[in-house]
Amino acid sequence: MTRHDNLIPDVSLPAPLCILCGHDAANHFLYPGILQCPSCGFVFADTQLSAADLQKLYQRNYFFGNEYLNYLEDKPALQKNFKARIQTVLQHSFGGNLFEIGCAYGFFLELAQRHWKVAGCDISAPACEGARRKGYNVICGEFLHLPLKEEQYDVVALWDTIEHLARPDLYIQKASTLLRPGGILCATTGDIASAVARMRKHRWRLIHPPTHLYYFDRKSIEQLMHKNGLEIIHFEHCGYSRSVQQILYSLLVLNRETPLRKKLYEILKPLFGFSVYINLYDIMFVIARKK
Ligand SMILES: [Zn+2]
Repeated sequence: MTRHDNLIPDVSLPAPLCILCGHDAANHFLYPGILQCPSCGFVFADTQLSAADLQKLYQRNYFFGNEYLNYLEDKPALQKNFKARIQTVLQHSFGGNLFEIGCAYGFFLELAQRHWKVAGCDISAPACEGARRKGYNVICGEFLHLPLKEEQYDVVALWDTIEHLARPDLYIQKASTLLRPGGILCATTGDIASAVARMRKHRWRLIHPPTHLYYFDRKSIEQLMHKNGLEIIHFEHCGYSRSVQQILYSLLVLNRETPLRKKLYEILKPLFGFSVYINLYDIMFVIARKK
C-alpha cells in the first residue's frame, strides 16, 4: 500500500456501528434488516456493502427499470422539484460556485447554471456520460476520492442522495471542507420520524435497502451537520411532483414484477402521462450554513 492509498478513506459500510455516535447497534432491529442505534436512536440498514457493490447498484438498470422506470422520461417532474428547491436556495445564496454530489444526468445542473457556475459528480458512469454529453462539468467517481479544492464552493447540493451513501458522515465532512465560510449545504432526504413513516413502519415507501441505507430525522440530520461545523438555517417538509407513470410503476411492478403486472402496467401507462404534486410531510429539505 502506498502512502496515497492510506489517505483514501474507506467508503465501505461500518454497520452495525452507528456513524453518528459510534455505538454498536448489532441485533437492535427496528424492522427486519433495519437497525436502530440503542444509544442515539439513529436508524440504518443492516448491510455491509463494499464500494464495488454500491457502484454496481447504480449502473444503467438503476435509472431504467430498477428504481426508476425511465429516469429520462421523468425529467419534467424531477425538474419541477428542482425549480422549487432552487427558489428556496436563492433566498440564502446567490451566485458563485455550486457543486452537486450525485448529479445523475444533470437535470438539476441544467437549471442551476442560470444562477451559479456549476459542477458535479456521480458514481454512475452512464449517468455521467449523459450529463457530459450535455456539456456539464461532471466527474465520474467516488466523491470521497475526488481531488477537489477546499473552500471553493458557495453551494454544495445532495438531492435525495444522502440516504444512498455508504458513509454519509464522511461525505458531509468533506462537503463542509469544500464550502467557503458562509457557504451552504442543501439536502433532501426522507424523515423516519414523520407520521407517515411511523404509521407505515417497514412498509414506508422509502425503506428499501440496499439503495436506501440511512434513515434520518430532524435530530439526526442536525447532529450530523453540527458535527461538521454546519448550522441549519432552513428546515421544511417539502412536497414534490411525481410522474403518475412512475407511481403506477412503483405500485404494480417495482419489487413485485410478474408478466401479468408488467402487461397491466403497459396497458395503463399511456393514460397517465402527467405529474401530480404530493406532500406527505415525510421528506425533509434542509439548508445548513458553514460557520
Ligand atoms: Zn448512535
